[in-house]
Amino acid sequence: MFALMSLLVVGSVAFDSVKTPFGQAKEVLGGSATYFSVAASFFTKVSLVAVVGEDFPEKDIQFLKSRKIDTAGLERAKGETFRWKGEYGFQLNEAKTLDTRLNVFQNFWPKLPEAYKKLDIVFLGNIDPDLQREVLQQVTKPKLVALDTMNFWISGKKDSLIKTLGLVDILIINDGEARQLSGEHNLVQAAQKIQSMGPKILIIKRGEYGALLFSRKSVFHAPAYPLEKVFDPTGAGDSFAGGFMGYLAKTRKFDDANFRKAIIMGSVLASFNVEDFSLNRFKRLKNSEITARFKAFKNLTHFENL
Ligand code: AMP
Repeated sequence: MFALMSLLVVGSVAFDSVKTPFGQAKEVLGGSATYFSVAASFFTKVSLVAVVGEDFPEKDIQFLKSRKIDTAGLERAKGETFRWKGEYGFQLNEAKTLDTRLNVFQNFWPKLPEAYKKLDIVFLGNIDPDLQREVLQQVTKPKLVALDTMNFWISGKKDSLIKTLGLVDILIINDGEARQLSGEHNLVQAAQKIQSMGPKILIIKRGEYGALLFSRKSVFHAPAYPLEKVFDPTGAGDSFAGGFMGYLAKTRKFDDANFRKAIIMGSVLASFNVEDFSLNRFKRLKNSEITARFKAFKNLTHFENL
């Protein structure tokens, strides 16, 4: 029974080297699946599918386990862990990728542990779209499938990505990626074009301007929390997705009203993550802080009728 409550994720587990206007971090724990899993772990059990190299320290695996993340699907392969190097300018909205080394991901072909195949809520985190499809095909009866991707795959593997898009319910991307994927500048038109590729629900993240949720019936706008200090935006997107999907996995209600709450939960988790480098803020985050910030989000846009 507990296994069914878990949330399945595939994505990168990485060492990141990041430079922001406020400092830098070298070879710190990162990766799309890592940020996602830890954010989601505040709401649900998570089953992780990814690969690391011989250089990945045991203490990081122990950290994931301490967050109730199942690492049975985290393979250790010969070679080096995935590495990403990025830089943020004063605008902080979009990372400039300086280097991407797929390393062990180049020869990774995920094989799901038996218990994972029964999971029905799936997040295909930012990784090669071929691998995203490979994971999904091994899931017996997926009920809700969400996908994240980035410019690296939109320009490098567009055909494969479009194939994967045809299999998912929700796509979570940023505004630049939505424009790149659809070829449309206007986000409403971009959303219509992307929804026609498969996903019924589209979430467009707009950094410090919040996020838009397009369903078949309506559009909802979630603000971003006006933080006094943003330290490092790395992982904001994955933490957002982790909060969003974690909340949906916990509540298991897949309607517009609950999607709206989930998108706020995603924004809450992203807002904490950017307050420190790597996963450091999550390491000291308390449930009571999450609840308090959720309320603060409500107050941010609440006003009385005329
Ligand atoms: P975001 O949440 O969008 O800021 O994603 C940040 C994470 O994405 C970093 O921790 C990177 O390790 C990871 N990442 C960057 N490029 C790629 C890529 N091409 N494939 C998979 N993961 C990536």
